[in-house]
Amino acid sequence: MVKTMKNGLKLSTYREMLEKKAEEVRRSMSAQKAAQVVARLDCPSDEGDLSQQHHEEWIFLNRNTIDMKLLREISDGLQRITQGTYGVCLECEEPISVKRLEAVPWARYCVSCQEQIAARIAAGEQVDDYQEAGR
Ligand SMILES: [Zn+2]
Repeated sequence: MVKTMKNGLKLSTYREMLEKKAEEVRRSMSAQKAAQVVARLDCPSDEGDLSQQHHEEWIFLNRNTIDMKLLREISDGLQRITQGTYGVCLECEEPISVKRLEAVPWARYCVSCQEQIAARIAAGEQVDDYQEAGR
């Protein structure tokens, strides 16, 4: 059964896109982890490389944080599909454009609300959780 929303969204298509993306992110996270372990074994304690290693660790952690955030956004998106609120902006409650959902299937806000939120963040305002994970 294919559920279609008022604005023509095929929910099953978005569900698939979200699930595929989540799978991709999970896979890339475990690949990075494996690479990190291998790098450690290759180079147990070369003092000269220590700062470089720290730098790589920082990048790794930072990237992981972004991936975790993205995974959470994807699972929120899947939840909205289940709840029947998918594709509706959480801020203004207008439908999010199909074009935007195809580019960012986990989008929570329409383009104009997202821009307003981004502008508030750029202005230094603390907007918890509103920033979209960029990919
Ligand atoms: Zn909006």
